[in-house]
Amino acid sequence: MELDKMDENDWKYHGEGNKSLVVSNVQHARVLRLLKYSTEDAENSHKTTEQAFRHIQNIVDYSQNVMKPLLGEKFVHNGEAVKLPLDFVRQLSLKVQRERPESRCDKVMDTFSGCALCLPNLTQLSSCCCCREHRPPLCIEIKPKCGFLPSSRYVTKEIKNLVCRFCMHQHFKLAHGKWKRLSQYCPLDLFSGNKQRMSLAIKHLIEEPQNNFKIFKGGECIYSCKDDADVLQDLDELAQHLRPYFLPSGSLMNGHQSSKVVLNELIQVIVSALLSSWDPRKTHLSEGRVRCEASLLHRDLLRNTNHSLPKDCVLDKILGTQMLDDLDIEGLNPLFKRVEQHLQDFPKERSSFQIDGPYSHSFLEKIQKCPPEDDGSIEYAVGKVHQYRVAMTAKDCSIMITIATCGEEDGLDQSLEIQPSKPRFTYSVSILDLDPKPYESIPHQSRLDSKIVNHYLRSTLPNNQELANQSVFLGWDREGEDCTLVFHPV
Ligand code: ATP
Ligand code: ZN
Ligand code: MG
Repeated sequence: MELDKMDENDWKYHGEGNKSLVVSNVQHARVLRLLKYSTEDAENSHKTTEQAFRHIQNIVDYSQNVMKPLLGEKFVHNGEAVKLPLDFVRQLSLKVQRERPESRCDKVMDTFSGCALCLPNLTQLSSCCCCREHRPPLCIEIKPKCGFLPSSRYVTKEIKNLVCRFCMHQHFKLAHGKWKRLSQYCPLDLFSGNKQRMSLAIKHLIEEPQNNFKIFKGGECIYSCKDDADVLQDLDELAQHLRPYFLPSGSLMNGHQSSKVVLNELIQVIVSALLSSWDPRKTHLSEGRVRCEASLLHRDLLRNTNHSLPKDCVLDKILGTQMLDDLDIEGLNPLFKRVEQHLQDFPKERSSFQIDGPYSHSFLEKIQKCPPEDDGSIEYAVGKVHQYRVAMTAKDCSIMITIATCGEEDGLDQSLEIQPSKPRFTYSVSILDLDPKPYESIPHQSRLDSKIVNHYLRSTLPNNQELANQSVFLGWDREGEDCTLVFHPV
């Protein structure tokens, strides 16, 4: 990429989140991630080029020096902060504007600083030689969110030990109009390591993707959240896309049947990718922390099952990092206040504590060498605050699973139709969106936590009462729940 010869025609809109807008290159497997500002204060509050560059460099450093050692070398890709010609950025902004979803247009792309983060395009496999000529690679993006229940003694509301944050937050978001339907996805099912629970979690993501699930084909998004879309129709459309990857070409199955088979195959491939690891050891998860009362699972599935994740699989790495938040926001808040107090008295220490970076090796050391018990020191408080922020990043990251068919001559031959052998896939798994979470947002997190919990208690209290008294009947009651759409118990 020659920075002085940038042409907006080589780039197209790829997607966006709350903080950034992403464009992809039409020829090379690269994306540019640009900052966004809210429209009201775009003119006033935009950063200078130097500030924006520093901000992006901080993201690169944090991802490389902090998150990569925690999440694993193989899952995290290095990005690079780049300075682009302002002319190019302005043209690009005009070009992508019409493709942006309306719901995201409360913010504008940064056209002032010319700075961006350049990353490999994870929706395209660049290293696979066998798939180039054949089918375009598929890429599944999952934002898994927090996968465990807190066990901190500082938690004051019992419900937080029973129902996971995601499931409670769903009720809050529905009430505030963020989504029109509740998602039945529960992260604790995804992180359980139990293939049946994981399959169900992915089925629920497919049914109601919100901003937790997307599918790309050849780098183009073919499935994501559409707020008022007809879900069933979308699923059939999706199955049409996936059919060539998962069904032998001469298959005689009718449309509906084959959609079910195809989506089920997709789910199985996702589960294998999420659990794949070279390490034969297992991480055992304590049962009390991987069971959410809001999840629609049959009790039998939860009982008598061994909850473990293969050591070093992507879910194990993410969960381990999320669990650095071991005090819960309720236990962390007093420590945040200790740091605040200390900084009022000794403002110059802000930089030696590395509150705003630099995110270097010594930042990671502060996390790893934090005393195990509160000795009343400021170092302990700073270490816990840093750990909490790192955990927040891991609770908000996305997993990208890129899959390509391989050796399809053996796999999808018509003559094998009677006993179709499964096509073989190669996949690569990556983790993205590893930005540092601002120190200043901790009080906001604390308030948000009580709002979500209180709302949940208010809106579902009668059920919870029932649930507490009669939890044995929960599974029985919901047994008739329609799981037939795409999910087949193995
Ligand atoms: P959020 O508000 O969800 O946290 P964000 O503003 O932090 O989002 P990202 O999640 O980094 O932004 O990027 C937005 C979208 O762009 C992602 O959901 C993903 O689909 C796409 N994307 C980001 N980085 C890459 C990449 N390296 N390769 C391919 N696609 C990417
Ligand atoms: Zn849950
Ligand atoms: Mg993000």
